[in-house]
Amino acid sequence: MNVQENLAEIKKNINHACSLSNRDPKEITIIAVTKYVSVERAKEALTNGVIHLGENRDDGLLHKYEQLEGQPIWHFIGSLQSRKVKNIIDKVDYIHSLDRLSLAKEIHNRSNKKVKCFVQVNTSGEESKHGLKPDETIPFIQELKKYENISVIGLMTMAPNTDDEEVIRQTFRRLRNLRNEIQLLALPHAPCQDLSMGMSNDYEIAIGEGATFIRIGSSLVGNESGGVTQ
Ligand SMILES: *Cc1c(COP(=O)(O)O)cnc(C)c1O
Repeated sequence: MNVQENLAEIKKNINHACSLSNRDPKEITIIAVTKYVSVERAKEALTNGVIHLGENRDDGLLHKYEQLEGQPIWHFIGSLQSRKVKNIIDKVDYIHSLDRLSLAKEIHNRSNKKVKCFVQVNTSGEESKHGLKPDETIPFIQELKKYENISVIGLMTMAPNTDDEEVIRQTFRRLRNLRNEIQLLALPHAPCQDLSMGMSNDYEIAIGEGATFIRIGSSLVGNESGGVTQ
């Protein structure tokens, strides 16, 4: 299937999920995750109006950034080593994987403007997943106040590896509840209005639980790596 057909299907599913949860599809931004695919395929996403692109490695991002200069809005979605921050910081618009103070400090030091960050939370409890524990999240966000170039625009999570929809739903709901708690604190450095959650297999559930950014790779632009997803 080409990107245009995939996108039509995804938009149909988004509309359906929105109607079930009384949401406006305009609240949801699709990020095309291009980590498995070529520059050509990423271009196809752009041609079809998907201007938010996501990569999870610095080299992958830099390669596509050069080829597509000025066109996409870039999201860094993978776990980020502090020493790599300098490579990507002036190229990305959003970082979805802020999970430690050392990384916040590096982002703050290397950037000359505010960076829109999602704090990554491990709401599934799976050992293999990155992110803060839910009960560590609020103290962590309070500490970020000292890094003026960090703006916490939201929280990000990944669903566990399971087919159990209810378990996936709870993982997303926990993130939304935590987001709501943080919003009540009314921290100027952490407006925290957004939820980055939902991938190819679970974005409809995520929308039902309040996702505002969904990160879609395989089912939108495809997976040329033959099934490797991390
Ligand atoms: C790869 C990846 C995605 C997209 O995964 P698909 O299942 O192909 O949609 C989303 N978020 C993160 C953090 C990823 O690493």
